[in-house]
Amino acid sequence: MRIGTTLGVTLLGLVAGLPPLPIMAQTAKPRILVLATGGTIAQTDSKEAKLLGDALIGAVPQLKDIAQVQAEQVAQVSSPDITPEIWLKLAKRINAALASNDVDGVVVTHGTDTLEETAYFLDLVVKSDKPVVVVGSMRGSSAPSADGPANLIDAVAIAASPTARSNGVLVTLNDTIQSARDVTKTNTTSLDAFKSPDFGTLGIVQGGKPIFYRQVSRKHTTATEFDVSSLTALPKVAIVYSYVGVDADAFEGAMKSGAKGVVYAGTGNGSIPKAVQPAAASAAKSGVVVVRASRVNGGVVERNGEHDDTALGTITADSLNPQKARVLVMLGLTRTGNAAEMQRLFDTY
Ligand code: ASP
Repeated sequence: MRIGTTLGVTLLGLVAGLPPLPIMAQTAKPRILVLATGGTIAQTDSKEAKLLGDALIGAVPQLKDIAQVQAEQVAQVSSPDITPEIWLKLAKRINAALASNDVDGVVVTHGTDTLEETAYFLDLVVKSDKPVVVVGSMRGSSAPSADGPANLIDAVAIAASPTARSNGVLVTLNDTIQSARDVTKTNTTSLDAFKSPDFGTLGIVQGGKPIFYRQVSRKHTTATEFDVSSLTALPKVAIVYSYVGVDADAFEGAMKSGAKGVVYAGTGNGSIPKAVQPAAASAAKSGVVVVRASRVNGGVVERNGEHDDTALGTITADSLNPQKARVLVMLGLTRTGNAAEMQRLFDTY
């Protein structure tokens, strides 16, 4: 076992049940809690590694120059296997940690496939202005161009920076700083996979220093109305994808599965073809939240644009992609089932 030689080994080795906070305040350096969930950034060929949190600092010695870092394992899954239960566990742990005076910021390590969904969920439910940074890596620790260590260093630098406060949950890969709301994975394998197509990156990390060029203006974290503190599950919401020749089968399947909401990943400006419209209208009439989003990677779905949403009973996703619109519907359903109220949430967040 190559203990300490790679970030991946180290992250895998961080185990639940480590001594709890407070982090020892020996210097004035910011105190950063790293919450590990798995993904390529934790990839290793060793399955037996069980290292103490201190090994994180040992594997990436530069972290010591930036912050006092302590780590905990919240999950150990590839990110396609992240669940709403893991989201709730993560959010509650972050809220507890940031409520304490012993933690100045949080870094979440995560697989890249669903990283944007977890980040947006946290953006809506974290109740602190302190920085929360979600980070992954596109290459495993044994790849010649492994990006995990550099991305983790950037993430800790951002989480430790006062300039990162009050910007909502942030995502970093490849020296970029992105808003959780806007960022999406745009490439299956490239190191430069994470982009914010409509509104751009918020900033960069250069020479180890986070530099912000833009602010987030949509409401997030402490300014949202969502409270997960007593939640143990989230409502079931499906995504149905549109294509040439689509019929209503998938939409009706979602209804039969008991979904309380459906995000329709429509073509163009969120179009729902005639073959699916009756199913969508009847679902909306029965109280299911039906959201028109777009399979196009950019732009705003206009209310009463392609369709008469008022007549159909549908809601429009603004600029949220289908997977992020689903996150907002899941949280929205914890507050309301009313279509007008749900539209307000999309206009606000
Ligand atoms: N399959 C991996 C995951 O999302 C890919 C990655 O982490 O980059 O967990």
